[in-house]
Amino acid sequence: MPRAADPLQPVPVPADLHERMTAWRRAHPQATFADLEGEATRQVAALRAELIAVALAAGEPETAPACPTCGAIMHRVGERTRTVTTSGPERVDVTGGRYRCSACGAELFPPR
Ligand SMILES: [Zn+2]
Repeated sequence: MPRAADPLQPVPVPADLHERMTAWRRAHPQATFADLEGEATRQVAALRAELIAVALAAGEPETAPACPTCGAIMHRVGERTRTVTTSGPERVDVTGGRYRCSACGAELFPPR
């Protein structure tokens, strides 16, 4: 189980996020504090979507999942991509294995 982040330690901010906010500020010199806050929220949401995509690309489970309907081990029958909207609401393309149960015919994507 991953450890929770230490609340006393700041989370490092990617340098490109600083650069994007700096560029946005220079392009919007009359922006209000609310405008800045809105842009920061948008940039963080985009970063969150990017981090989710990186984690999804890290790989699939090594073993086929059990069928959620009957419990039999499923078999991989191909790959599929779909776009998922985060609560951001950024969009993330999810690509992964598509599984089918030979016992009952149920299909599963993504497996988890
Ligand atoms: Zn099944």
